[in-house]
Amino acid sequence: MSIISIRTKLILALSLILVLAFLGMSALNYHVSKNSLRKSIIGEALTRDTIFSEIQKDLISPLHVSSLMANDTFLKDWVIDGEKDIDPIIKYLSEIKARYQFFSSFFISEQTGNYYHSDGILKKISRADPHDVWYYEFKNRGVDYDLDVDTNEAAQNTLTIFINHRLNDYEGNLLGVIGVGLSIDHIGYLLDSYRKKYIRNIYFVDPSGIIQVHPNKKLIEKINIFEQEGIGNIAGKILTADSKPSVFEFNRNGTHILLTVRYIAEFDWFLLVEQDQDMALTDIRKNFIRNLIFGFIITCLIIAINIFTVNYFQGRLEVMATTDKLTGANNRRELDHFFKHAAYLAKRKDIPFCLIIFDIDKFKQINDTLGHLHGDKVLKDAALIAHKQIRKNDYLVRWGGDEFIVLTYNIIDDAKIIAERIRKSIFETDFFLDKTLKDKKRMRISISCGITRYRHGDTLETMVARMDNALYKAKENGRNQTIAEEEENRRTQARRFK
Ligand code: GH3
Ligand code: MG
Repeated sequence: MSIISIRTKLILALSLILVLAFLGMSALNYHVSKNSLRKSIIGEALTRDTIFSEIQKDLISPLHVSSLMANDTFLKDWVIDGEKDIDPIIKYLSEIKARYQFFSSFFISEQTGNYYHSDGILKKISRADPHDVWYYEFKNRGVDYDLDVDTNEAAQNTLTIFINHRLNDYEGNLLGVIGVGLSIDHIGYLLDSYRKKYIRNIYFVDPSGIIQVHPNKKLIEKINIFEQEGIGNIAGKILTADSKPSVFEFNRNGTHILLTVRYIAEFDWFLLVEQDQDMALTDIRKNFIRNLIFGFIITCLIIAINIFTVNYFQGRLEVMATTDKLTGANNRRELDHFFKHAAYLAKRKDIPFCLIIFDIDKFKQINDTLGHLHGDKVLKDAALIAHKQIRKNDYLVRWGGDEFIVLTYNIIDDAKIIAERIRKSIFETDFFLDKTLKDKKRMRISISCGITRYRHGDTLETMVARMDNALYKAKENGRNQTIAEEEENRRTQARRFK
């Protein structure tokens, strides 16, 4: 497994962990927020406090007023006395209407059939008039009061919520029906304002599922929830709700709706509050997307820093692993790679190469006379000079101590030229080892070189052995010179590598 693939794997693994962790966190966050929002929607039960109490204020108070009217002794006495003078009743009804700002107030007498309202007698009711059917139905039901949505004949047939209440004499016999009317417009406006305020759709249905009050007037008395998409399937359950809020869910036109229902016994109606879950989740979704974008940028940045750091340190490690710390030349281990590659090229493509070894003459003396640090400086400078004399695709290796090896892609004659070039340039260099050496004592440094060429079947060891041999001869011959092995075979070799 190569180093690069490990590095790529490391970066990929880190990136994957980052991306997964980030996506996981975001998804979890979204899920938790969504659930807590759902819980709070359901937990609040939508209607429990604010909405319900506001509606109660608007609808229950007329109920109380009509109940008060039904227990008013003046009214009872006036009817029992035979409804002689209509002024007091007109005054009474208009007072009630004005005081509580109702849309209308009325009394229907069982005895005379007169329909009194705040402006006078509207008419006499009759079984034959379809508008008056409600009166007879209410009477037969035997209840004390009810709510009825109907058109108001006393006010240009506008849609009105009537609160009808029985008026009994002191023995409990029916004297008539008294009550007040609320404009549907007013209630509709109220519900509409709740809708805007709470972003919820609020309406009432009667026990048979028919819409009684709705911000959209056109639906009133026209629509039955049993016939509506989504809600129709659960309408049966909805209409069994009691005065405690119950929560339902259904889908309509692709939107998921959370519905809270509560039965309002006073009206015998059900209050329905719908909330579009998707709309409620919009903010959370927006937040989720913002998080994703932000997280994506951060993830990219972290991955980029990660790649940079890994590359940087890997580069450093590679340099450290392949170069000699003191001289900057390639280290001994690297020679193995260079040799293998060169041997491969020689075998496959007949590309010749040679190894040159050079060793500084009497280096121990330099160390001994000038100190180890100066010795180091000489090694560094010698490596630098040698490096300048070789081509880019040749290699300089520190073999150990004061010995260096050059691998050069050349035939032995040319290798010898290179070796001589190195030797001469080192020898001609003034090594001013110390600026404190004011007498400008010139240090001449010489090297001895041994050269060998590659032959098929060679290993690094066999070449080094021959090369060492040549170096040994150079040292023996008086140093500061180059000796190539097998000089006698030179011509043959030159022909081979032509
Ligand atoms: P010769 O001409 O026969 O090569 O003689 P020499 O004195 O150079 O002998 P040799 O090559 O055996 O000596 C190498 C010396 O280099 C021995 C050792 O103390 C010294 N040496 C090895 N590594 C370092 C180094 O990193 N820094 C310094 N300053 N000296 C080193
Ligand atoms: Mg030496």
